[in-house]
Amino acid sequence: MTMPTSNPRNPSSESTGLKSLSAFGPDFPFSFDHWVADTNGVGIIPADNHGAEVAVVGAGISGLVTAYELMRLGLRPVIYEAGRLGGRLRSEPFGAAPDVVAELGGMRFPITGKALFHYIDLCRLETRPFPNPLTEAAGSTVIDLEGTSHYARTIEDLPPLFREVSNAWHASLENEARLSELQQAMTDRDPARVHQLWDPLVEAWDDRTFYDFIATTEPFCNLGYRHREVFGQVGFGTGGWDSDFPNTMLEVLRIAVSGFDDNQRFIVAAAEQLPRRLWEHQPRKLAHWATGTSLARLHKGAPRPGVARLIRNENGTIAVTDRWGATRDYEAVVVTTQSWLLTTGIDVDESLFSHKVWMALDRTSYTQSSKTFVMVDRPFWNDINPVTGRHLMSMTLTDRNTRGTYLLDNGPDKPAVILLTYAWNADAMKVLPLSAQERARLAIDTLRKIYPDVDLRSHIIGEPITVSWESDPLFLGAFKGALPGHYRYSRRMHSHFVQADFPAEHRGIYLAGDDVGWTPGWAEGAVHTALNAVWGVMNQFGGATYDGRPGPGDVYAEVGPVKLPDK
Ligand SMILES: Cc1cc2nc3c(=O)[nH]c(=O)nc-3n(C[C@H](O)[C@H](O)[C@H](O)COP(=O)(O)OP(=O)(O)OC[C@H]3O[C@@H](n4cnc5c(N)ncnc54)[C@H](O)[C@@H]3O)c2cc1C
Repeated sequence: MTMPTSNPRNPSSESTGLKSLSAFGPDFPFSFDHWVADTNGVGIIPADNHGAEVAVVGAGISGLVTAYELMRLGLRPVIYEAGRLGGRLRSEPFGAAPDVVAELGGMRFPITGKALFHYIDLCRLETRPFPNPLTEAAGSTVIDLEGTSHYARTIEDLPPLFREVSNAWHASLENEARLSELQQAMTDRDPARVHQLWDPLVEAWDDRTFYDFIATTEPFCNLGYRHREVFGQVGFGTGGWDSDFPNTMLEVLRIAVSGFDDNQRFIVAAAEQLPRRLWEHQPRKLAHWATGTSLARLHKGAPRPGVARLIRNENGTIAVTDRWGATRDYEAVVVTTQSWLLTTGIDVDESLFSHKVWMALDRTSYTQSSKTFVMVDRPFWNDINPVTGRHLMSMTLTDRNTRGTYLLDNGPDKPAVILLTYAWNADAMKVLPLSAQERARLAIDTLRKIYPDVDLRSHIIGEPITVSWESDPLFLGAFKGALPGHYRYSRRMHSHFVQADFPAEHRGIYLAGDDVGWTPGWAEGAVHTALNAVWGVMNQFGGATYDGRPGPGDVYAEVGPVKLPDK
């Protein structure tokens, strides 16, 4: 039976059940969205184990999804959180107008991320199209390169060079990755066909960078360096991508084939509502617990403190010690923090993981990111300049230091928000030591060069808000950005929830979260890893899935990610 989570405020929910592209693989083609959409839950745990405690470290979206589904199974999740509920789905209110927020982490969610949208719908959240470059939602876009600005509503308004770049990108994806065929196989939810098309790409591209792809595929080679450079600045879907050029091409291919760069939506009012509502949500049907139980109620209003230590007890249980020194023992622990924190932020007994897994956890490479926001009195950019007939300001992509500027309209009666600068890696590191004021001043000076007639300062109200996740000890980076040769590490982390062949000393601890998934930087991938961990814990407690509705661990040997040889 499928849960009635269809939400009229989300077009993604309208397409549930219809044949449309979803994040079905490509590495692990499994229908997570269908698996969770059962009113009875994902499976059953023997009644003897009902009420057993399971520690969940971290209350980001993966920790909350893990805890929510464990609660539905009749287990008692015990969440530990060192910082703020919601993790990287963080919507920071402006002090002067608390209803107006800056989205510091996840802010645009592709509708192909159907497992995430299952929870967005469950929490009855409204979403709307995100104003990405050249989309209708943006209204207009300015591309400012080498001192020249181009104003456009669609790509057709831009000089031919930009269309050539766009065509070269799409042609390269077709030639090298058989994009349409792969997307068709994912739409059809045909795991064998997905593997047939995807696995050769894993072999071919794991060792090679995104830049290598752009520099060597025929459609780009036919054009020359300038087109490659423009592609780096303007990118595809969401903006410039040259900061990702050193990453493995596989990561970029996953985004493209999953359709993550198209049709993205924002959560009206605040992305952080999703983790907050899931925390409060009372499932209609759940094992063991009384109707009306929620994670908030199980925790009496607040999670446990941050975790300081994880060690194996002699009786095989895992001792979790919090930052205030209290220790509780658990049969199972799910860790959802960034993996670097297992060597820097938490004292973890080395014997809990194999050396191969430690190698993968430690070699994970993180992307840096900075965002700086200001609140403005109104969405003044929608005003039309009477001389030019253009919007006063537009969504802006530039080779200058701001890189991407997004205009976020909260409606005519509310202050609006400008994400002055959204930058990555080297561009983000340039401003790392600067205060919010200094970052805002730099960005406004840059935008003044692009829009000399606009007095942006006169519209600003309140104080700027900025974030650099890499300087936060609870994160150390925005999210994983896998380097060439990292496929085997990603596979080790992702497959860790299937523990049947593990020695006893490595069992009972599960990895989940953004950097354990195949699509880091996308909450959909984090949700998939949470559901993998739920299957692992259910299996450990003697549980099973329903007939005809296998879970991720039931089919992993058959349709799991391809294994590359070590030699
Ligand atoms: C700048 C940025 C932009 C992004 N943009 C998008 C986007 O547009 N679309 C999209 O889909 N995704 C986006 N993402 C990714 C998305 O935000 C993540 O995939 C998702 O929020 C990760 O959830 P998580 O639960 O795996 O990790 P987290 O949210 O990081 O949760 C882990 C939690 O662990 C806690 N913790 C750390 N140490 C301890 C400890 N010792 N004890 C207990 N708790 C601890 C942390 O405080 C945190 O709350 C973006 C992320 C960033 C940073």
